Amino acid sequence: MNKRRIAVIGLGRFGATMALEAQANGMEVLAMDISEDKVNEIADHVSEAIIADSTNAKAIAAIDWRQFMTVIVAIGSDVKNSMMTVIHLQEVGVPDLWCKVQDKYHASLMKRLGVQRIISPEEEMAKRASLSLRYPDMSQQMMLGETQYLAEVKIIQRIDKKDFLNAIYRQGHLLVAINHKQDKMYHPATEVPVCLYPGDSVLLLSNGGETKTREGFIWQSLTS
Ligand code: ATP
Repeated sequence: MNKRRIAVIGLGRFGATMALEAQANGMEVLAMDISEDKVNEIADHVSEAIIADSTNAKAIAAIDWRQFMTVIVAIGSDVKNSMMTVIHLQEVGVPDLWCKVQDKYHASLMKRLGVQRIISPEEEMAKRASLSLRYPDMSQQMMLGETQYLAEVKIIQRIDKKDFLNAIYRQGHLLVAINHKQDKMYHPATEVPVCLYPGDSVLLLSNGGETKTREGFIWQSLTS
């Protein structure tokens, strides 16, 4: 197995982007699609691109899948094709399979099949978008496992060090770093200034996952 080699099957928007980004990030990518047009579009930008029907067991068996670290099945709209592809790949012993799903039904099928990673891009994006509507001060949020997340939070109102640290403590956040707008870089959490101003931002590590996120972030309690 080559740790830098991956395969992407299904070159819709998700699959093609995944293949192109992985290649741009220094990986060797095999891109596969049943559509000649899709394969031609990407052929010059990835290591290898082939036209094949991944529901065809013979087409799958013709490739040595042991050379790939991970295989991503990105056939979202046809659950049957996605499922058949996954089954064939499991039969030939692909150790790490990721699958893009279109809905909960598709996701539960893939879970049953034992796919290593299930990706639901629309759902994930919708969750992020609704969070940024609810909390416009949160620039970015990254889940760390099921119950923790890292959040970049903009300071929107002047706040003293003591109140700031109290608020963080009350809400169970851990301060990771502070970014002062003047110098455009993050500093260690130990360097909290006497006062934080609009334009500054902080990185917080939080427990409690989504429930906690929905119930209120630090700056809400500060401004109320
Ligand atoms: P998007 O990623 O664009 O949001 P999607 O996940 O709904 O969309 P699909 O329309 O399901 O994407 O198809 C993704 C790609 O998978 C298409 O380019 C399609 O040609 C390809 N595809 C579908 N069935 C097969 C198959 N049996 N073998 C190989 N490729 C297939």
